[in-house]
Amino acid sequence: MAKQTVLKKLPKPKAKPKTKPKPAGRIGIGAHVSIAGGYCEALARGQADDLDAIQIFTSSPRSRARRVVSKQEKADFITACAVSPIRAVYVHTPYYVNAASPDSRTWHFSQSYIVREIELMDSIGAGYFVMHVGSHLGSGVAAGKDKVIRMLDEVLQKTKGSKVVVCLENTAGQKNEVGSRFEDMGEIMGRFKKEPRIGAVMDTCHMFSAGYDIRTPAAVKETFSAIERLIGWQRIPMLHFNDSMVDLGGHRDRHQNLGQGYIGHKGLAAVVGSRFVKGKDLILETADQGRAADIAWLKKTVAAR
Ligand SMILES: [Zn+2]
Ligand SMILES: [Zn+2]
Repeated sequence: MAKQTVLKKLPKPKAKPKTKPKPAGRIGIGAHVSIAGGYCEALARGQADDLDAIQIFTSSPRSRARRVVSKQEKADFITACAVSPIRAVYVHTPYYVNAASPDSRTWHFSQSYIVREIELMDSIGAGYFVMHVGSHLGSGVAAGKDKVIRMLDEVLQKTKGSKVVVCLENTAGQKNEVGSRFEDMGEIMGRFKKEPRIGAVMDTCHMFSAGYDIRTPAAVKETFSAIERLIGWQRIPMLHFNDSMVDLGGHRDRHQNLGQGYIGHKGLAAVVGSRFVKGKDLILETADQGRAADIAWLKKTVAAR
């Protein structure tokens, strides 16, 4: 496809900054967007909604077959990003990747997947790789944590020189999931204390479902102080910003549109207002149905902060 055709479809960026420094303390607003039509289309979707950041799957998460990304598409994406007001591109792993797996085949498959993904991300200039901590599949949390630590260690070795930050995401604590407790994430990350390429992403729905209350400013303060103590907010560039279909401690990963779930607008506004969230990106992973209202509410709430 000719380069011009792809670029023509993109809405005109409002500004053309040469570099995109993040204004100190400013909260970024973003969303998970579809890559239908290619990566440039994903960027265009983010721009159409006037977002600061996007999250994508680089291939369809439903299939293990990876998308073929041509040199032209990579070049087009880099060109489009350079003039785009979108300042961060997050890549989410598909769910079949499991760094905590006790099964050697799955574990090694996951490793080669992650390494290839980081190489792809370097080639398109995407900075943050987001991965659920994983599932120990019955082998126990301690064994799961050891697998994740070994995975991160080997991935860092195999992608030396990469700029991509690997972010572990907290889980809802569904059956066999590792990483729903901040202590467990903190323990894994504590092994990589001086490693700037290891970070974390905190999902509001997952933490609530795992049993951490965020329904009031006081609850947010307590929960976020625990994150500060056990993980450290300086290692967290982004939060997944979702309401929850299940109640506190329900241990299920079911996102809900903002204000429609058990966290509610009051709790979500308290999250936005927290001092720990200053300068972070807030990425929506809510259903497309209702997404426009979510973006509007989030923009309004961030502006009123
Ligand atoms: Zn998430
Ligand atoms: Zn989730």
